[in-house]
Amino acid sequence: MAVAAASKIVNVGDKVQNLWFSSTHPPVLDKGSASTIAAVLGLDDEVCSCDMGASVRSVVGCLKAAFLIRESTLLVTSDTRFGRPGSDDEINGSDGSAAFIFGSAPKIILIDLVSESSPVMDRWRGEGEVGTQSWDDRWAVDQQVPLMIRAGMRILEKSALSVADIAHVVISAPSPKVVSQVGAKFNGVSSSSSDWNGYLGSADLGIKLVSVLSAAKSNSFILLISGADGADAMLLKTTELFRPDQHVEPLKSLDIDVITYLSWRGLVHREPPRRPDSEVPSAPAVARSRDWKFSFAGSMCTECGSRHLPPQRICMSCGATDKSTSVVMQKEFGVVRTFTVDHIALSLSPPVVIAVVDFDSGGRYRCQLTDVSPEDTKIGMRVEMTYRLISKSSNGVRNYFWKARPTMEGNQ
Ligand SMILES: [Zn+2]
Repeated sequence: MAVAAASKIVNVGDKVQNLWFSSTHPPVLDKGSASTIAAVLGLDDEVCSCDMGASVRSVVGCLKAAFLIRESTLLVTSDTRFGRPGSDDEINGSDGSAAFIFGSAPKIILIDLVSESSPVMDRWRGEGEVGTQSWDDRWAVDQQVPLMIRAGMRILEKSALSVADIAHVVISAPSPKVVSQVGAKFNGVSSSSSDWNGYLGSADLGIKLVSVLSAAKSNSFILLISGADGADAMLLKTTELFRPDQHVEPLKSLDIDVITYLSWRGLVHREPPRRPDSEVPSAPAVARSRDWKFSFAGSMCTECGSRHLPPQRICMSCGATDKSTSVVMQKEFGVVRTFTVDHIALSLSPPVVIAVVDFDSGGRYRCQLTDVSPEDTKIGMRVEMTYRLISKSSNGVRNYFWKARPTMEGNQ
């Protein structure tokens, strides 16, 4: 999700000074995920890629720092919510990612930010635990609502503004009751407090901000109020350069059964097929084929223009040797030329649909399809590439690579 969101606003070779990644559920710990995201996006290697996570409030620190640092910064927030089965958080949680680029000629500026710090113990996740636990929701309401209202009122007072001056209010908190009660206090203005389906952890504030930007006008105020470990209120203003060209793109919905959902979450473990375990990714092999492994870079023959995936030293069309350039294919569209369904391959989502994809710009690649059922797969189907989880290895490494999925609405 982080790659999908960020790739909408940056391109291969872009130079940014910072890439910050905020998540409470990064795919790996000790090792960061931001450097992986930078490599997948094909950003210039001089980027300072850092993870800033652990708590949902981390996104507030990221936003504040990105607004103030005055360096080109790509902020990516991405999260999944792991409420325990049957819990409010499972019902009210959702997954998502939002990305923002900060730099010169800003479309949005930070006017002010105020905070209220309080160690409210409404939600927590112990080390090694999968699901978030929560205290009685009334506790969250009693503790968070006054803090969030106070933060919102403080920033309005500091800025000599009233609620009526604010074009959009974004309210973010894990509890829907907290959101509705704080929203009632700031009633009378356009608000995104309840028009998104669920709380998205550290990505919540960003996605709800993007959702109001599609309706925002230039030179208008946006008030963000976030409730986590206290409260933060952030006053933003759109500039003359602002255009409402941002949008929220829902992932394609799939009808899946509960067991599949819980197995994807790691909350149940399905009986695997009687096959050898998947191979543990080799660190040297990954390093040797970095551009291929991360940014899906093939080779293009400089003699005849043929494209090869993975990259080849010898052109399969004209036989030229070591006469090729790297060509990144992650944003290319293609068509399914043929496919097969494998019911015994190791997969988190069996059966595996494997397709041969011919790209519009040239080149053919055999890869897994995702976001599609075997019944819906058709020869001639238009596809695009997406960076997804391939396997979880026995040593804890999550192996990601590119899969093809049916093109989203609005794409080619
Ligand atoms: Zn050639």
